[in-house]
Amino acid sequence: MLSNRQIFQMNMGLPSVVNDPIEITHAKGIYLYDDDGNAYIDLVSGVSVSNTGHLHPHVVAAIKNQLDRYMHTMVYGKFVQSPQTLLANKLASLLPASLDSVFFVNSGSEAIEGALKLAKRITGRTGMISFKNAYHGGTAGALSLLGHESLKQAFRPLLPDTRQLEFNNFEQLEAINCHTACVLIEPIQAEAGIILPEKGFLKALRQRCDEVGALLIFDEIQLGFGRTGSLFAFEQLGVVPDIICLAKAMGGGMPLGAFISSRNNMQTLTSRPELGHITTFGGHPVSCAASLAALEVLINEKLIEQADYKGSRFEDVLLSVDRVKSIRRAGLMLGVELDAEVPIGKLLKHLQKHKLIVDQFLFHEHAFRIAPPLTISEKETTEVIEMLLNALNTFEY
Ligand code: PLP
Repeated sequence: MLSNRQIFQMNMGLPSVVNDPIEITHAKGIYLYDDDGNAYIDLVSGVSVSNTGHLHPHVVAAIKNQLDRYMHTMVYGKFVQSPQTLLANKLASLLPASLDSVFFVNSGSEAIEGALKLAKRITGRTGMISFKNAYHGGTAGALSLLGHESLKQAFRPLLPDTRQLEFNNFEQLEAINCHTACVLIEPIQAEAGIILPEKGFLKALRQRCDEVGALLIFDEIQLGFGRTGSLFAFEQLGVVPDIICLAKAMGGGMPLGAFISSRNNMQTLTSRPELGHITTFGGHPVSCAASLAALEVLINEKLIEQADYKGSRFEDVLLSVDRVKSIRRAGLMLGVELDAEVPIGKLLKHLQKHKLIVDQFLFHEHAFRIAPPLTISEKETTEVIEMLLNALNTFEY
C-alpha cells in the first residue's frame, strides 16, 4: 500500500476513524475490497452517493457509451449536449410543473451557491435564513448558511444578513419576514443525526414563506434519489419548494449536482448580467449519462419503493441492542443513537474490524449512520444484520 500522506481530503471521515484508512482497490454492489482481499460491507454509500450500488452494470455501460462519443465540448449554450437534455427532461417529468428548469453543476455546494444567487435575483432581497445543525457544503455561501459554529468560526467574515433558526421551532418562523430572500432547509436533517420534521412544521414554514414572499429552498442533496423511500423526500412530506438542490446520488457515482426551479425563476439569471451563473464542467455529459442510467435503475428495479421496508428491517433488529438508545430513520437512512457513554470512535473501529463500514454524523456525537446502497438484496440484508448484531454484541462497552 502506498503512503497516503500526500492526499489532503478531509472528507474521508472524522479524524477519530481515519487514522488508519483502508485503501479500496475495487468495489461491487454493497462490497468494498482492499488490497489484501478483504471484503467490507458499505453501510455509508459514500454518504448517500452510491444508491445504485458500486459499478452497477447499467450505469457503467452508460458511462462507457458516452465516453466513446464525447466528454467535454463547450459550455454557455453554444452546443446542446444530449445527455444533459435527456436528463433534464426526465427530471422535469418526475417533478411538479413548478420545478421544470434544471441548472446542472458539479457538486452539492455549487447547487446551494446557485440557489442562493437565484433567490437574490428573484426577490431582490438579501436576507437568508437556514437552520441550526444543518450542513449545506463547504463553499463560502453554503458555509454561511451552515448551522454549526464549529465549521464556520475560522472563516468569518462570511455572507452578511444570514440567520439560523431552530429546526422544528414553530415560533421562530416569525423571524422570516419581508427582507428574507430565501429559507434554506434540509427537510430531514441528515448530519444532525437524521432529524425528522415535526408534523406540520414544513407546512407552517411554506405558509410563512408565502406570506412574506420569501423563497423556500430544499436541500435534498443527501435525501434525493430514493434514499428516504420516495424519489425526493418532499413528495412524502407534502410541501413543494420553490427551488430544490440535488447532488450526491444524482450522478450514479459521478460528480453532478443541480438546482431546479421554474423556467420563469431561472430566467432571472439571464439578464443584468446576462451570464448570471456559469460553470465550465457543470452537467458533464458523462455524469449526465450516468445519472440518467442510475435513475432508470432506481425506477426499473423498484428500489425506491423497497427503501422503507429495507430500512425497517435494520431498525427492528437494532432496537433490540442493549446500548442503542433510539433510532431515527427515513427510508434506508438510519441514525442509530447510542447511550452517551459509548465511545463511538472505538465502536466504529470495532465494526470495521468486523468488515462493516459505518460512519459518524458531523453534528451528532452519539449516533452513527447506516445507509447502504439501495440495491442491497433481501439475503444481503439478513447477512449484514447478523454481522451487525454479532459485532455490536461483542463490543466491550
Ligand atoms: N448539503 C447536504 C445536505 C450535504 O450532505 C452535503 C454534503 O455532504 C452538501 C450539501 C454538500 O455537497 P458537496 O460535498 O457535494 O459539495
